[in-house]
Amino acid sequence: MILDMLTVGPFQENCYVVGDEGSGVGALIDPGDEAARISMAVEQTGLDISKIILTHAHIDHVGVVVELVNEYSCPVLAHEESVPMLGALPTQAVMMGIKFGEIPKIDTFIEDEEVVEIGGGLRLRSLYTPGHSPGHLAFYVESEGVVLAGDALFAGSVGRVDLPGGDGPTLLRSIEERLLTLPDDTIVHPGHGPETTVGRERETNPFLQGGVL
Ligand SMILES: [Zn+2]
Ligand SMILES: [Zn+2]
Repeated sequence: MILDMLTVGPFQENCYVVGDEGSGVGALIDPGDEAARISMAVEQTGLDISKIILTHAHIDHVGVVVELVNEYSCPVLAHEESVPMLGALPTQAVMMGIKFGEIPKIDTFIEDEEVVEIGGGLRLRSLYTPGHSPGHLAFYVESEGVVLAGDALFAGSVGRVDLPGGDGPTLLRSIEERLLTLPDDTIVHPGHGPETTVGRERETNPFLQGGVL
């Protein structure tokens, strides 16, 4: 598996370039900002980008989707509950004092427990993990022991729940039932900050020690 991370934009969002080495086919996960840097990283991998996949529709994760759709002529995949969130992007932009161009369109909806294939060799299994945002998905690559966790779970923290559609108990349930049930040595690649493991977060994350959000 090819897995490159780029931290982009004012919110220091982690965009991931993933790919299947055998076929040279790849995908972008959460291209939030800095389209030129993302396409340069893609060029270095030599991957042919076939999909743009969204963990959720917050502005810091989708800011350059339209630009990159134009570049790669590929479909955008996300959960259906992300649609109303995309509609609210101009409002999000005003609230955060940033500019936002065209609203991206989702071409294919991903349900819970769906397998998204990239090339022939890379399989991302979707894990429905709402709470930080409606329709939030994490993506588990079982063969590699890797989960792309979006903004559900971070190293030593969890996603904020004070944005529209956020809910603390829902987020904790998502993390406990869908992420902490993965093997302890699973590497967690979050939407912000450094990577961690499921085991480390279970043991040390202060938000997961029976606390409330
Ligand atoms: Zn978010
Ligand atoms: Zn984010």
